[in-house]
Amino acid sequence: MDLISRVRELARNMWWTWHPNVIAVLRDIDPTLWRKLNHNPISFVKQLPREQVEARAAELALDARVNHVFHRLKEYLETHDAWGDVYGGPLRATPVAYLSAEFGLHESLPIYSGGLGILAGDHLKSASDLGIPVVGIGLLYAQGYFNQRLDANGWQQESYSGTDIGNLPMEPALCRNGKPVRVRIKTRSETVHVGVWRIEVGRSSLLLLDSDVAENSDAVRQLTGRLYGGDERVRIMQELILGVGGMRALKAVGLAPGALHLNEGHCAFAPLELARQEMEEDGVDFHRAMRRVRDRTAFTTHTPVEAGHDRFNAGLVEDVLGPLRDELRLAPDEFMALGRVNPRDGGEPFCMTVLALKAARKSNAVSALHGRVSRQMWQGLWPDRAVTEVPIGHITNGVHVASWIAAPVETVLDTYLGAGWKKKMYLPETWASAGAIDDAELWEAHQVVKTRLLTYMLRHVCDREEGHGNEQTCRLATERLDTDALTIGFARRFAPYKRGDLILADAERLARLVTDPKRPIQIIFAGKAHPNHEDGKRLIQRIYRLTRDERLQGRIVFLDDYDINVGRHLVQGCDLWLACPRRPREACSTSGMKALYNGVLNMSILDGWWAEAYDGECGFAYGGGRQHADDGRQDERDATDLYRVLEETVIPMYYDKDAQGIPREWVKRAKYAMRRLGWRFNADRMLMEYARECYLPMVGATSIDGIGGGYAR
Ligand SMILES: *Cc1c(COP(=O)(O)O)cnc(C)c1O
Repeated sequence: MDLISRVRELARNMWWTWHPNVIAVLRDIDPTLWRKLNHNPISFVKQLPREQVEARAAELALDARVNHVFHRLKEYLETHDAWGDVYGGPLRATPVAYLSAEFGLHESLPIYSGGLGILAGDHLKSASDLGIPVVGIGLLYAQGYFNQRLDANGWQQESYSGTDIGNLPMEPALCRNGKPVRVRIKTRSETVHVGVWRIEVGRSSLLLLDSDVAENSDAVRQLTGRLYGGDERVRIMQELILGVGGMRALKAVGLAPGALHLNEGHCAFAPLELARQEMEEDGVDFHRAMRRVRDRTAFTTHTPVEAGHDRFNAGLVEDVLGPLRDELRLAPDEFMALGRVNPRDGGEPFCMTVLALKAARKSNAVSALHGRVSRQMWQGLWPDRAVTEVPIGHITNGVHVASWIAAPVETVLDTYLGAGWKKKMYLPETWASAGAIDDAELWEAHQVVKTRLLTYMLRHVCDREEGHGNEQTCRLATERLDTDALTIGFARRFAPYKRGDLILADAERLARLVTDPKRPIQIIFAGKAHPNHEDGKRLIQRIYRLTRDERLQGRIVFLDDYDINVGRHLVQGCDLWLACPRRPREACSTSGMKALYNGVLNMSILDGWWAEAYDGECGFAYGGGRQHADDGRQDERDATDLYRVLEETVIPMYYDKDAQGIPREWVKRAKYAMRRLGWRFNADRMLMEYARECYLPMVGATSIDGIGGGYAR
């Protein structure tokens, strides 16, 4: 095989996305083109002139490097002694089907919007590393999520760029007879034909459903066009395709799921379709079929915010799911009751979360606090139980470390934790020696990554079109951004409960902190607002205006078009990662975990993961874990405390540097955070909890020890 064919082969499995050696080879061939193509190796290989590759080959020792990573991939795919290979048992023949409306695997595959998708992507990657057989099922959005630009008034503008399907690392999924899979789903008003793509993510596979096929009308072809882009009808149709289409696709490729994992309520029609298949194959009635399906269904709920739970009216449900309801032999009211808290309330809409909770044997929230909040929220479904007895547990989210850690920091960890640390990062012992890391080594690694972030940011800011005063921002940022200044990162969706503007509450106080001649702070913001949410766009606009304030311009920066790439730079290169959720609305949050593994300190309200992670020394907390019935009062109190902790603790600690320029106390906290939290907030630990609590019992495997669980019930 020649060099180019090997690179092409590497590009076909998304394994490369978490292997810096592969990324380095690609980048080194032509860094500018690599960046320009948004790190898409398939378009990259297509556009690279062969002569250039050959010319660079000798100079870069490309042959040897490509061969090396190529063999690592082969070795990886043939691993047989990872945790899941040993304990996975019957899952090998009947894998976990993991359904999610979004998957965030890499910036070059834009089928995610935020945390939910990133979590799903990390889930597949960790399942692959651990050898736990998981098949992902999602939708291929031909136009993905929107691209964000801000206009001269700081108002978010959305645009959709068509994804070039030929440049995505996927193939049509095939039936056992070798033909491409086609799935058909009937509604009362149309038949939807669905094509299915297959993507390899290390040892995991991902099936993506796509309604953009020739047999469909134009309107149907556009159903899977955009992520969260349409009205209610588009939404329920997407959910029909995901849940019902997903189960049919799985069957068509010859897979019988041993366990079904619903990642959020969007995919909750899947158990109904599985029940229909049981009825058809075994002649059992609906209730019996549902009991069987329920025995192998797990559901993860992701938000305590009301708007995050899809609800549909009876007319729409009947029009879209009528044919399925007929086959399940249920009356309209019986069907609606599956999605109602109170089955006898004829006026209650159909809620996907309710359906999921009823259809699953195991339901879980995504942090301990979110578990408590969810039990309260859904107590109505179990009216004769006390809140504490509501059967919703929790499995705290984690991140796929190899996807988020910066190479220089990883090298330091290799030295101190031992080369194999990534294979057992779920064990506390693995992190025991984090305290022994040499301060200077960690600090220097961090400074390298931070410089890279600032360079990236300047390029990003300066590349933006003319006008908008961007030249001035570019000039001032170039002058003012300082690798020695405390750099605070805040990047997340601009949902009001995340309070992206909390630090703006007292503009004068903030300005003093930013322009302090001795101990300045600089802030980098990024994040998208949902296209239909004016509140979120107003938050962005407030921040944008601040970035145009002459004193602050170039010191407070808004990076537009937040995505995995922007996110990766930020969580790796900032000094402090800030979170401001209005407790207890943040179910978990994962960006702070990514920061943790990079030696970046967290500062957050005690909500989501931080409520269970914070122990007084592993970073900073503010707000005291308090809540107030009045949002305004809560915001005021939290903002005051945010400034106080920044001024009294964070800024002095950061600037307390010794003769070598190392802030000893700060670095000590970063190391302490890794030692105490490193084993808990990675996706391997999360996967193993899902395996132990849900997947393995569902396939009747004997229970196993070896990992401490946080599953509440
Ligand atoms: C990690 C990540 C998120 C989720 O961050 P939260 O802290 O949960 O808000 C969202 N978007 C991107 C691009 C991310 O990388």
